[in-house]
Amino acid sequence: MKIEANNPNRKSWLEVDKNSDFPIQNIPFGVFLTRDDIITIGTRIGDYAIDLGTLHQLGYFKDIPLTDDIFLQDTLNDFIADGRITWRLVRNRIAEIFDKNNNNLKNNTKHRDRIIFTMDEIEMQLPVAIGDYTDFYASKEHATNVGSIFRDPENALLPNWLHIPIGYHGRSSSIIPSGRSVRRPKGQMKPAHLDTPIFGPSKLIDFELEMAFITTDVNKLGKTISIDEAKDYIFGLVLFNDWSARDIQGWEYVPLGPFLGKSFASTISPWIVTLDALKPFKTESPKQEPKPLPYLRQKGKKSYDIHLQAFIKPENGEETLVSNSNFKYMYWTMTQQLTHHTSNGCNVRAGDMMGSGTISGPTKESYGSMLELTWRGQNPIQLKDGSERKFINDNDTVILKGFCENEKIRIGFGECSGKLLAALE
Ligand code: CA
Repeated sequence: MKIEANNPNRKSWLEVDKNSDFPIQNIPFGVFLTRDDIITIGTRIGDYAIDLGTLHQLGYFKDIPLTDDIFLQDTLNDFIADGRITWRLVRNRIAEIFDKNNNNLKNNTKHRDRIIFTMDEIEMQLPVAIGDYTDFYASKEHATNVGSIFRDPENALLPNWLHIPIGYHGRSSSIIPSGRSVRRPKGQMKPAHLDTPIFGPSKLIDFELEMAFITTDVNKLGKTISIDEAKDYIFGLVLFNDWSARDIQGWEYVPLGPFLGKSFASTISPWIVTLDALKPFKTESPKQEPKPLPYLRQKGKKSYDIHLQAFIKPENGEETLVSNSNFKYMYWTMTQQLTHHTSNGCNVRAGDMMGSGTISGPTKESYGSMLELTWRGQNPIQLKDGSERKFINDNDTVILKGFCENEKIRIGFGECSGKLLAALE
């Protein structure tokens, strides 16, 4: 089926700023509360939120096989479970409804008043009920940097890393939407100068610049999928800040991997940008040497050229750009991650979320965490207000942004923002 929604020449009758992340070619999906306190599934064009529940009630999706209440829900899980053909039909129809040359809704003021909201009239919610969350460790530069800092620069990359998309099962209950604040966690840690561990507020709070993809129902328990099929099960992507307490992590992670140093909070951007919308930005992923085992071997462009940025904004201060990375630096692709995840027969369901792992690029400016940017605090970063940061201070806000751009269009993710609050007494 043709993805008409991606037509780069289409213009909307809704006003869209040329630098907007949300032109009519994006058509992401999210969940929001309206000014009347009604929760609905929606999309966004420019700075307008569009209520898909009402649009459907008023008959704008007729001829598309959708249940009556598919958009009148507080999560996207059922819509995501409907599968790729339905996502395409709906995005194509939305593009048609808001096309500059279509007067149907454009000239119907009564309908417009019920369907279209400005962004300040709504409140974004978590878009999916996340069943399971898995975090990968897919950037070679990040794995090498962390291995150098925590272990041994001579053997930074462990022997399995070039053969397996390494991951661990994370905690989905503490994933929150952009805009919510995060409490500095307490935990057990062992500072180098002490012989025994202590318990208290973490002193080394970090962000991790990541993206996460959301799946539809992939496989039944005991079944697997092939690498060629994997892309059909990926609904879309969000920005993902996997907040980390490095002092808790450093003490607890051997031998079973991350636990409480990670599970206190992860922030996601609220609009899920579909894999379909990102199609024009497909690009090569890094060459894999040694060649992966046959079940992970793939050909062609399997990554996406998504510019990623991290900013730190002190309380009452201006934001400072601290990292400039790109999704394409990921060594293991999303399709390899998903194929590997199901290769033992583990079932992946609609609304599951897979984090990429911190995405660090080859240069110092492109490192995706404070741990790497300041090399565990050895080289502090100076912010615009003159203050220095080794890690994240109380009342700092960390903002992630991401966008794709070519000569014709820009497709972006908006913001993934969270403020760090002081630990509880
Ligand atoms: Ca992570």
